[in-house]
Amino acid sequence: MSCVFCRIARGDIPAEIIAREDGAVAFLDVAPLADGHVLVVPEAHVARLEDLAPDDARTLFQTVVRLSGPVRDGLGADGTTIGVNNGAATGQTVPHVHVHIVPRRHGDGAGSIHSIFPGGSRRDVAEVGDAIRAELALG
Ligand SMILES: [Zn+2]
Repeated sequence: MSCVFCRIARGDIPAEIIAREDGAVAFLDVAPLADGHVLVVPEAHVARLEDLAPDDARTLFQTVVRLSGPVRDGLGADGTTIGVNNGAATGQTVPHVHVHIVPRRHGDGAGSIHSIFPGGSRRDVAEVGDAIRAELALG
């Protein structure tokens, strides 16, 4: 098994573990964007969020919710940015779902999630809604 997050989840390689649940593990990112940058991963090797089993998704996000306050307060931060790069096109470099929790401070200069989308939307809102609802109906 060469996946680094699987190896961390199994305890095969060391990491600064923050929490371990039945189905998810949280640990400090080795290349933190800020002090206290935590990654929360499912124990299951799944590349994309939409491929997670419902119980794994529930455990993953319950862990994110449980940690978001302690990550903020433990670092004396003002808030957290919580994000998932979901697929290679988004910059996901490890094909194992991982949720970033990054402590944020007023004036830290990092910007909001909105700042990573310079182009904004172009298509008609109702048309976009129809396209997504059509896919949802197929599921
Ligand atoms: Zn993995």
